[in-house]
Amino acid sequence: MTPNAAAAKAALSHIEMDEAPAAIRSKSRDFFWYSPILKERLDHLEAEFVVNPKSEAEVIEILKVCYAHDVPVTCRGAGTGNYGQAMPLSGGCLMHLKNMNRVKEIHPGRVIAEPGIIIKDLDAQTRAESGQELRMHPSTWATASIGGFIAGGSGGVGSVTWGALRDLGNIIRLRVVTMEAEPRVLDFRGEELHRVSHAYGTNGIITEVEMPLAPAYDWIDTFVAFEDFREAMEYSDGLANNPGILVKLISVYEAPMAKAYFQRVKAHVTEADTLVGIMVAPQSLDGFQTFSARWPNARIIYRSDDLQWDRSPGPVFEHGWNHTTLRALKFDPSITYLQVRYRFPDHIELVEKVRAEFGAEVLQHLEVLKESGRICFAGLPLVKFSTPERLEEIVKIHEEMGCMIFNPHRYTLEEGGRQSADQRQLDFKREADPKGLLNPGKMITWDEPDFDYAKIYAYKGMLPKP
Ligand code: FAD
Repeated sequence: MTPNAAAAKAALSHIEMDEAPAAIRSKSRDFFWYSPILKERLDHLEAEFVVNPKSEAEVIEILKVCYAHDVPVTCRGAGTGNYGQAMPLSGGCLMHLKNMNRVKEIHPGRVIAEPGIIIKDLDAQTRAESGQELRMHPSTWATASIGGFIAGGSGGVGSVTWGALRDLGNIIRLRVVTMEAEPRVLDFRGEELHRVSHAYGTNGIITEVEMPLAPAYDWIDTFVAFEDFREAMEYSDGLANNPGILVKLISVYEAPMAKAYFQRVKAHVTEADTLVGIMVAPQSLDGFQTFSARWPNARIIYRSDDLQWDRSPGPVFEHGWNHTTLRALKFDPSITYLQVRYRFPDHIELVEKVRAEFGAEVLQHLEVLKESGRICFAGLPLVKFSTPERLEEIVKIHEEMGCMIFNPHRYTLEEGGRQSADQRQLDFKREADPKGLLNPGKMITWDEPDFDYAKIYAYKGMLPKP
């Protein structure tokens, strides 16, 4: 351990810590290994100590002590991120917020909670006390924290109706602690939210969240099978464009994904079936069935309320978003993925162009999404990995075709986003983290403002491989 980290650890010894080497190693990791590129680069990383604050006062103390000793601090919600977001590139202190898990207030349309609460537990409490639930959650609902979703996620189950997480209105307020000699506690609303939402904890630690709620329903899970991919895509787009039918999820899985990778679905589909996974509100079931009946080739093969299977497939949403990749990886470790945005109005034709270019090398997995009031697709295609060079080429071809790529094979905010500085995040980092100690190495524009995005960023402060 570096002398500075040892001194900070000693000064914080009255706060709960993880001491076992295996725990320190596992708390230093997230789901970075989805990417063969990140696996190669980040696998050796480990924090020097792990501290588990129970309150905002303890967070302030940790940030103050680490600031005084120049020790980097990387925050962890539940470690389910995919970009190595929660991995401590230069060691130091790993601050795990699992003990900050209280729901503070529930009101009509909103909830106030601590950031470390697991989303499933948050939903359980709002549902029990008020009949409400979060509008959207990642498919890691059962394992991810609400603070980690806000700082690292982008949207998910619910985004077909409510849009992306950072769209106006989808976060109400965030309380944030800065990393200075005397940490400040700030409340952000409106435009200010963009300073810290999806900033990977690089410029402040979220200690309280206020999120909008919607009425909770007993969502009906369904699977609909099609023999033709384009028809499945058009059906999904059409369903989402029926505003009177309330859905929470529409996912499209190109054949033979369902047959090859969905263990409990296999027996009910053929190699040729493209599958659509849907969550529909009970009061919209009639509308959904009427809509589906207009598509003569749509086969409703599963309904959680009625048409059940001997072995339940589990929640439909745990087949969607990045769970699709996880399921595929269990069968074929050579698979990886991309994150693509197919924008309205060209989304359907763009997907067809990409399919024609790559065939089975890039299998289409689409999540139907609302963007600026329009329905479009977020793609999380499964890519057959051959070499890093080919992966780069696949990304480039997508971009040349007009697709937007959020590259999941990079650990920085800019490369995983729009390949440019988010000025609001950078400006706030200057103010809130003057020594650059919060999750170092994740914001390129902080380290190298003139970075050329043609190459992969390699953070100079990263711990060397042993
Ligand atoms: P972590 O991984 O612990 O942290 C994420 C980032 O936020 C890190 O940079 C961390 O430092 C920072 N952070 C955490 N807490 C705070 C805080 N309180 N203050 C400041 N910074 C903080 N993502 C989606 O958006 N949608 C999906 O549908 C989705 N599906 C997924 C499916 C699978 C199977 C997997 C493995 C991942 C998926 N993800 C998805 C990615 C990830 O699950 C989500 O982003 C999740 O919400 C992260 O939450 P977490 O608590 O695990 O955060």
